[in-house]
Amino acid sequence: MGNSLSHTALLGRGYYRVPMHQTPTADLADRLARAQVQARSLGIGALVVSPGPDLRYLIGYDAIPLERLTALIVPAEGDPSMVVPLLEHPAALASPAGALGIDLLTWGETDNPYELVARTVGQVESVAVDNRMWAEKAIRLRAAMPDVDQRLAGEVINHLRMRKTPNEIASLRAAGEAIDSVHEQVGTWLRAGRTEREVGRDIADAILAAGHVTVDFVIVASGPNGASPHHEVSDRVIERGDPVVVDIGGTMPDGYCSDETRTYAVGQPSDAFLVSYAALEHAQAAAVAHVRPGVTCESVDATARDLLTRAGLGELFIHRTGHGIGLETHEEPYIVSGNTELLEPGFAFSIEPGFYLAGAYGARIEDIVVCGDNGPLLMNERPRSLAVVDV
Ligand code: ZN
Ligand code: ZN
Repeated sequence: MGNSLSHTALLGRGYYRVPMHQTPTADLADRLARAQVQARSLGIGALVVSPGPDLRYLIGYDAIPLERLTALIVPAEGDPSMVVPLLEHPAALASPAGALGIDLLTWGETDNPYELVARTVGQVESVAVDNRMWAEKAIRLRAAMPDVDQRLAGEVINHLRMRKTPNEIASLRAAGEAIDSVHEQVGTWLRAGRTEREVGRDIADAILAAGHVTVDFVIVASGPNGASPHHEVSDRVIERGDPVVVDIGGTMPDGYCSDETRTYAVGQPSDAFLVSYAALEHAQAAAVAHVRPGVTCESVDATARDLLTRAGLGELFIHRTGHGIGLETHEEPYIVSGNTELLEPGFAFSIEPGFYLAGAYGARIEDIVVCGDNGPLLMNERPRSLAVVDV
């Protein structure tokens, strides 16, 4: 689960930025080359990529997503170039785009950058714009290229981003260790009589102290609030006997994200909760163990879902089992019924079944897992059994 909250307003992307650790130039050049191969195979004439995760993935440029157009142009054949506002030329040049030798095409305040993109792309049948491009930019680009079919660059780039390299897996492991170290301390902050918000503040501070550059989300969902999977924090005072779902994540300096859920209990919870939790623990472990190359994404979901259904909890498991993770907390592949994509070594995703009983409680266990050559590689190591604290 994830995305939003507290420190985001203070520290989130677009407000306060820590320069990304740079991905090796050779890795970026390889990504660009593979994107071109994929574009050619799909009959796409050029990719047009605005600031966001795809731009960070392809050229390591963490450009500020503003109203002025910055757009990387990756033709199916030939050299990439980038349209940049004149005032951002120094920043673009200082980014890995400079080391990659990408031609920077600047535009002044009264120029039309969309026409510059159109001229640079030239005669093609289709362009693919990044999936996160602002609608106003996509529409203005379409107006500048009225006869060109507009597609989504996700067709090309998601295919690449899903398949993590050993360097990327190392990044996810570092993110996993960082968030593990926060969960390791959560038991000392969760106390009856404190509010979720107070505990959340301690957690947010620790997420940064553990090496993340942003706090992406902090969920401290106590008692009945646990029944809302995306509850964040509130002023509810934690009571003795409450189960508490703690789902937290941030972004590391190299851009890779962490996301880990553990469920705690402040004092002894009800017997009914304990019985359900045991089934959840079993279902989550079975879904993790199911991971290996060649199985479908949906079969990982089914593994967890079938076990929870057999335990009478199927109706309470109201979301998919997981999502891919990398430069975004939520990206492909999605671990959901209907996704027949076959797992390959390097696919990275969460496995996070849960149960949610309205008005009473909720629980979730979430690990980030990478599909290895022979089975799952776990990026999180914290114990998954219910952590009973403040006893
Ligand atoms: Zn999560
Ligand atoms: Zn998640």
